[in-house]
Amino acid sequence: MPADYHTHTPLCRHAEGEPEGFIDAAIAAGLSEYGISDHAPHVPEPFDDWRMTVAELPSYFQWIERARAHAAGRIPVRAGLECDWLEGAESWIVDLAGRHSWDYLIGSVHYLGDWDFDHPKWLGRWAESDVDAVWTRYWKAYASMADSGLFDILAHPDLVKKFAHIPPGDLDRFYEPAIDAIAASGSAIELNTAGWYKTCAEAYPSPRFLELACSAGIGLVISSDAHAPTEVGRDFSRAIGLAKAAGYRETLLFDQRQRNSEPLR
Ligand SMILES: [Zn+2]
Ligand SMILES: [Zn+2]
Repeated sequence: MPADYHTHTPLCRHAEGEPEGFIDAAIAAGLSEYGISDHAPHVPEPFDDWRMTVAELPSYFQWIERARAHAAGRIPVRAGLECDWLEGAESWIVDLAGRHSWDYLIGSVHYLGDWDFDHPKWLGRWAESDVDAVWTRYWKAYASMADSGLFDILAHPDLVKKFAHIPPGDLDRFYEPAIDAIAASGSAIELNTAGWYKTCAEAYPSPRFLELACSAGIGLVISSDAHAPTEVGRDFSRAIGLAKAAGYRETLLFDQRQRNSEPLR
């Protein structure tokens, strides 16, 4: 199985498990590598209630070390972060990048202005929003995240569909500018299996987006976005089928922010 690089720890306040449990699950799933990428702190603090604080970074490094000690000689454990892309975040991301010898940084758009639109507490705000306008704003933010060039992997590309708010008609008008920006940036994307368990009932991104990404030469990783050991490597066989159908023949590996590839089997 490919590596699973998008996984969380209880430091984000909405995940559960111990490092040993996550590692045992990664080994049982037959993953080639395991990566930890919890929700990064964001400033100014307090920022929100679903991430570690800056003061908790040392605890995060200890968590990674515990995972590595348990995994020693059995599976490589990579160190990452899932960073939030917001207007003006560049200097903070650069600061975070210098705080550890990361293997990769993941960039995510969870916020449009002050709205963390993928949080279930906001279903009411969605109900009164113009879906087309939200999608336009989301994909613009996603493209600017790619343009920043600060991330090795760009997370869950069409997360904006999470609660099944999807504009009518051909979605290529949203996808194409984002694909161009991602391809130009050299960042990889992830095929994130968590979407199969949300209202949208579809992995992120859609099969069409994946096909466009493959044609544009954009690299791929497969991720579970696990918030508990039982979710590590979840649905990877199904995801491999989807990636192959889109034209992919390999996925990427990251070590000290250098990339390699492994064939999709
Ligand atoms: Zn989370
Ligand atoms: Zn995310």
